[in-house]
Amino acid sequence: MARYIFITGGVVSSLGKGLASAALGALLQARGYSVRLRKLDPYLNVDPGTMSPFEHGEVFVTDDGAETDLDLGHYERFTGVAARNTDSVSSGRIYSNVLDKERRGDYLGKTIQVIPHVTNEIKDFLAVDGDEVDFMLCEIGGTVGDIEGLPFFEAIRQFGQDRERGQCIFMHLTLLPFIKASGELKTKPTQHSVKELRSIGIAPDVLVCRSEHPIPKKEREKLALFCNVRPDAVIAANDLRSIYEAPLAYHQEGLDQAVLDAFGISPAPKPKLDKWDDVVDRIHNAEGEVKVAIVGKYTQLEDAYKSIAEALTHGGIANRVKVSAEWIDAEKFETGNDIAPLLDGYNAILVPGGFGERGTQGKINAARFARTRKIPYLGICLGMQMAVIEASRNILGLEDAGSEEFDYERGHNNYTHVIYHLKEWVEGNRTIKRAVTDNKGGTMRLGAYNATLKPDSQVAKIYGTTDISERHRHRYEVDIEYRDKLEKCGLVFSGLSPDGRLPEIVEIPDHPWYIGVQFHPELKSKPFEPHPLFADFVRAAVDQSRLV
Ligand code: GLN
Repeated sequence: MARYIFITGGVVSSLGKGLASAALGALLQARGYSVRLRKLDPYLNVDPGTMSPFEHGEVFVTDDGAETDLDLGHYERFTGVAARNTDSVSSGRIYSNVLDKERRGDYLGKTIQVIPHVTNEIKDFLAVDGDEVDFMLCEIGGTVGDIEGLPFFEAIRQFGQDRERGQCIFMHLTLLPFIKASGELKTKPTQHSVKELRSIGIAPDVLVCRSEHPIPKKEREKLALFCNVRPDAVIAANDLRSIYEAPLAYHQEGLDQAVLDAFGISPAPKPKLDKWDDVVDRIHNAEGEVKVAIVGKYTQLEDAYKSIAEALTHGGIANRVKVSAEWIDAEKFETGNDIAPLLDGYNAILVPGGFGERGTQGKINAARFARTRKIPYLGICLGMQMAVIEASRNILGLEDAGSEEFDYERGHNNYTHVIYHLKEWVEGNRTIKRAVTDNKGGTMRLGAYNATLKPDSQVAKIYGTTDISERHRHRYEVDIEYRDKLEKCGLVFSGLSPDGRLPEIVEIPDHPWYIGVQFHPELKSKPFEPHPLFADFVRAAVDQSRLV
């Protein structure tokens, strides 16, 4: 049976709770334990699938097709453990399950209440697959005191009581603000946050304190005394140059030791951290720099493309270079504007996924610029669709080539659909049927699908195999009917679904590096195992940088 570590936050949000959880997971692995990480989000959306990326950052998709919180991306990147749909839940999902049960009569006419019905539903979620790993790390989104979060806090308190003694611990992450005028780190907000936590019955075992400065011994002792934790369980989390330093930094601060001590595990197995030493060495000792332009729509919020930013960093790690990614709003080069001044000087161009017609003309222009100027181009999902539309319009001469998505959205019929809405596809041995008008959230091809690569294609060389599995999140597909015509124009369909009906990858052999993929390779990249497409894309950018 797993030991449970519950991770909560206080004082302010955005302290890096997800990262701290992920780094702790990596440290426990380094000591030989198996781990799984989970996220409980207090918001009322049933899942983040329908939330705008501006609201909540990227939607992270799991192999089994769940649309989850971006923290699950951190968990995967740090531990390599593939997340599942049972690793992410929101209040919305919990309430929706409870209400479904109530309608079905499962509660046999009882009055439905937050305690015990909602809290039981949360505890059932926590317990799933609890016997599979040594440690289950469960992070509660938001901060202590949030109204929506209360049932989650109550459920983890109960969970700790339900289990045998010593099987659950609580770790609380707070902020120590630095007051410049007095030159002091202040502990009072942390004291209040812990007081709030204790008032709902949770006493933290480990306190992780974010601060811009090292915590002096005096403050550490004060925190321990006032917050009722052991002095060596007060862990400082200072700002880092790279998030991938977090496992080593937390280890130095004694986080993993404090956690094992709290469980009474002694002697603790020694950690093996060479994997992380290597990652950090490659980041700190990069031997050059490349500039990649990311031409997208949600550019104001970097979290909207979190996994892409990280996968590019991993590509840099693979090549020992620093990748500096710059986000460019695609609407800047809609018709009329000369895009050369905006895109000159980049060693590679990436067009990421996205939804809706806004900004697509700029992305098509960027794809054209990359194709004709022979600049490495990686098109992801919508970015592949843009490459296909670009080739259809500008090489094939199909001037009105477009996506059914644009016509549907605007309620007109202006385009020839080289990208069309997929109404039917095969999932295992089932055929799935969908209409564009179905409930939002349920209409997409989601999760891992296999693809077969053309032998001798560039992608087959990059992957080193012709059978791959990658994660999807889209409604529309490139129409296979255009394959022969586009291949004659030089755009080769080098990856297809195993039944040969759905184009998964396009590439231009007569170009240094021009690849579009219908899936999201960024979701599977890790710092210690960079995704082959990102590793090779960055390599191509390095080659390009040597030309100029
Ligand atoms: N909007 C496109 C589709 O639904 C692309 C989606 C994406 O880029 N994730 O097919």
